Amino acid sequence: MARQRLVIVGNGMAGLRFLEETLERARGRFEITVVGAEPVAAYNRVLLSAVLAGEAAAVDVLLRPRRWYAAHEIDLITGQLVQVLDGGARCVRLQNGRTIPFDILVLATGSDPITLSVPGSDLRGVATFRTLCDIAAFERFAAGRRPAVVIGGGLLGNEAAHGLARRGVAVTLVHLADRLMERQLDAEGAALLAEAIEAKGVRVLLGANTRAIRGSCEVEAIELADGRVLKCGLVIMAIGIRPRAALAASGGLGTSRGILVDDRMETSLKGVFAIGECAEHRGSCYGLVEPCYEHAKVAAGAIVGETIGYRGSVLATNLKVSGVPVFSAGDFEGPGEAIIVRDVGVPSFRKLVTRDGRLTGAVLVGDVVDATWYWELIRSRKLVTPFRDALAFGRAFAEAA
Ligand SMILES: Cc1cc2nc3c(=O)[nH]c(=O)nc-3n(C[C@H](O)[C@H](O)[C@H](O)COP(=O)(O)OP(=O)(O)OC[C@H]3O[C@@H](n4cnc5c(N)ncnc54)[C@H](O)[C@@H]3O)c2cc1C
Repeated sequence: MARQRLVIVGNGMAGLRFLEETLERARGRFEITVVGAEPVAAYNRVLLSAVLAGEAAAVDVLLRPRRWYAAHEIDLITGQLVQVLDGGARCVRLQNGRTIPFDILVLATGSDPITLSVPGSDLRGVATFRTLCDIAAFERFAAGRRPAVVIGGGLLGNEAAHGLARRGVAVTLVHLADRLMERQLDAEGAALLAEAIEAKGVRVLLGANTRAIRGSCEVEAIELADGRVLKCGLVIMAIGIRPRAALAASGGLGTSRGILVDDRMETSLKGVFAIGECAEHRGSCYGLVEPCYEHAKVAAGAIVGETIGYRGSVLATNLKVSGVPVFSAGDFEGPGEAIIVRDVGVPSFRKLVTRDGRLTGAVLVGDVVDATWYWELIRSRKLVTPFRDALAFGRAFAEAA
């Protein structure tokens, strides 16, 4: 029997995980082609921050060597953008003109960084932080030792600022909101994070709105709405991401913010799936890697006839932000009783919110050893009343109590 032609667009973290999940279930059943726009095979994007900080080399973050693809008879095409998706003819066309037919298509096209459209945003030296190629450009810049400005105090902005500071660049992090990572942290946790980041050599400016980027051909400074001017030779915009759904939309697939999928990760066109950051499931798009892996598993199951359905991902943030461990989960700003413990010496901060005797939200900065336990308590909705007084001191203490 002829093998089904399986084409995967995007060789990022979701695309590769989908391949692995598929090979585990049905090795040899599909004739597989993978097309990736980046010049290298899939790598661990989460570790880009470590590469930028000089703590890992580009080669260390590659997830599978090319010989792995060859050993599984996967035709891996890198450095080629898929430009056309023809749902009627069931084929995709690459930028070099090659047409590849498919029986099953998986879109794993990730996201694009959002950029600010202010005067000067097209100057040389204005960059985003998403790929290994971006880092190569930052490294060339870092060698020149001019100051840099990072716009955006979310995860990526913090990581970019920290990485550049580790390379000896004078960095200012400017953020529009009045606290860093405002979606993951409450005010006090964010203040502690800001202190920790400043201690690592990054200057943090909050409530700072970028009005323009100045320069003739290259960046020379950024100008804030309050009139302050920050001299710099590099501006990194890290203000958010947008699912890459244009290819799907041009091929007639249903899209909204992302590519619309059902509980099998199948799009509006039968046999065409979307996974990872480009997918939109029941109104949600995700920007962390765990949901992307869940998508990959569900889609790999779907193409071999499994019936597991995806119900959406419950998110907890458990990250190292600029070297500072940060965990947040659940509803930590809603109604309820907040237990707050701050240890200035460590430094660490814990905020636990309980409602009706149950833990509903948690924020930890600095010391996150009990993150998994708190996460289990939130998800299981277990009664914490019997050990409430010990809750903030962690599992070992609470169990002893
Ligand atoms: C610096 C940084 C740090 C991060 N840190 C964390 C972290 O600590 N924890 C966490 O959970 N998440 C983190 N993330 C997010 C995480 O990396 C993403 O959620 C994950 O990579 C998404 O996987 P994906 O496969 O959907 O997209 P991607 O990994 O971006 O892969 C998409 C691929 O598709 C390619 N592509 C797009 N369109 C086409 C086309 N038309 N033709 C061919 N190829 C195409 C792209 O070039 C790209 O290679 C971080 C991200 C960055 C940038």
